[in-house]
Amino acid sequence: MSGNLYIVSTPIGNLEDITLRALRTLKEVDAIAAEDTRHSRKLLNHYGITKPMISYWSEKEKVRSEEIIEKLRSGLSVAIISDAGTPGISDPGAVLIKRAIEEGIDVIPIPGPSAAIAALSVSGLSTEEFTFIGFLPPKAAQRQKRLNELALEPRTLIFYEAPHRIFETLKDMEEIFGQRQAALAKEITKMHEEILRGTISEIVDMLETRTIAGEYVIIVEGKSKEAVSIDEALDEIKSLMKRGKGRKEAVKIVAEGYGLSKKELYDRSLVGQ
Ligand code: SAM
Repeated sequence: MSGNLYIVSTPIGNLEDITLRALRTLKEVDAIAAEDTRHSRKLLNHYGITKPMISYWSEKEKVRSEEIIEKLRSGLSVAIISDAGTPGISDPGAVLIKRAIEEGIDVIPIPGPSAAIAALSVSGLSTEEFTFIGFLPPKAAQRQKRLNELALEPRTLIFYEAPHRIFETLKDMEEIFGQRQAALAKEITKMHEEILRGTISEIVDMLETRTIAGEYVIIVEGKSKEAVSIDEALDEIKSLMKRGKGRKEAVKIVAEGYGLSKKELYDRSLVGQ
């Protein structure tokens, strides 16, 4: 009979964020497949767990999956862990899980932390319906294209982003999503944990005076379904112009954000100037 494949969530910073069941599973399995064995050894050493380890990283996912499937078919049980959080969520895991399901092997979740859900839970934004996007393309043109595709999405949006791109990504979001509420969750569960909340522009302003380092999740309000009045839209145009946007650009952002007529907004924004 085949062994079980356990998908084990591990901490996203604070080593205490691991469930009793996850620890028991890691102690009981025959082998642990890890994204980075050296990184995961620190966690395992902390909890006195010594197990044969299999290196399982993105580029080797296919080959390593077959090796792990062989072990599972021979009756051994295997746990997969990633560097942080839940395997398969912007992390390796999906290839192995799909193969295991094809082979009729039991795939058992051992739930725990994921940065996306932790950030969403403290964002203050709607958690009723949300969409996980993960990492955006690193190149500006592709990133902007993807953001444009998401501009009409009404559900709360969850993004992962690397620290060296956080500022440019937020600037693109400001441009494309306009004046929406957002939250930036930095270093969740770690010493320098910080949650910034406000409009995207306010968060960009807050970042100007901060050191950008560590890990970040960006949560953005979905496109508002409520109609805004022309007066509210004109106020937003004024506020964008105060922050340095040209009239044409400000009108474009607000018109696209609320699905209003660019021409009407532009003409009305000139009245009383
Ligand atoms: N599998 C992980 C999960 O379940 O959250 C995600 C892994 S992904 C490769 C790494 C990204 O997750 C980081 O770039 C960051 O966007 C986010 N992340 C991970 N840990 C975080 C933390 N402690 N605080 C904020 N964001 C974090």
